[in-house]
Amino acid sequence: MLNIVIFGAPGSGKGTQSERIVEKYGVNHISTGDVLRAEIKNGTELGRTAKGYIDNGQLIPDALMVDILAHVFDSFTDSKGVIFDGFPRTIAQAEALKAMLAGRGQEVSVMLDLEVPEDELMARLIKRGKESGRADDNEETIKKRLDVYHNQTAPLIDWYKKEGKYSHINGLGELDRITADICKAIEGR
Ligand code: AMP
Repeated sequence: MLNIVIFGAPGSGKGTQSERIVEKYGVNHISTGDVLRAEIKNGTELGRTAKGYIDNGQLIPDALMVDILAHVFDSFTDSKGVIFDGFPRTIAQAEALKAMLAGRGQEVSVMLDLEVPEDELMARLIKRGKESGRADDNEETIKKRLDVYHNQTAPLIDWYKKEGKYSHINGLGELDRITADICKAIEGR
């Protein structure tokens, strides 16, 4: 099983690169942000709960997020593995992911840290907000999401280094070069 964590700040290109990895390696894709946005669109109770957090740039509580993740993970049959996009975002989520995979005889193969400078992240997210109309891609919420990233999510870099799974990727530049670096990291793991 090829279980990949694609990691990085909002706007680092996780979604774009995930699509390419799915195509090349035939893994399933879980974007927790996409799962939550679908729930909001469908007007479910979970969607209503999630919307309050998302619109505020805050994280959904860990216990709820971990349940959702396990549910989606177990819905895949004949899977070659999964790319986790936007999960984990806290140490508690990383520990829960490790335990969930261990319980199924699996583990994270590699964690890819897409690093992009802050001014570039801001510019990309503002542009995406104008093009896609994503409600949380406005300047005020973007700033909150970047704070949440630095305070709650970035500590995972050291966590995955300790696990021996960490791989740094320069997320600034040509998309094809970034994809090539990602493939090298996956194949050299
Ligand atoms: P994303 O599309 O990954 O940028 O996620 C958009 C929003 O969904 C985030 O700002 C959070 O409010 C929420 N979200 C997505 N993934 C998670 C997660 N793993 N833990 C908590 N909240 C999440």
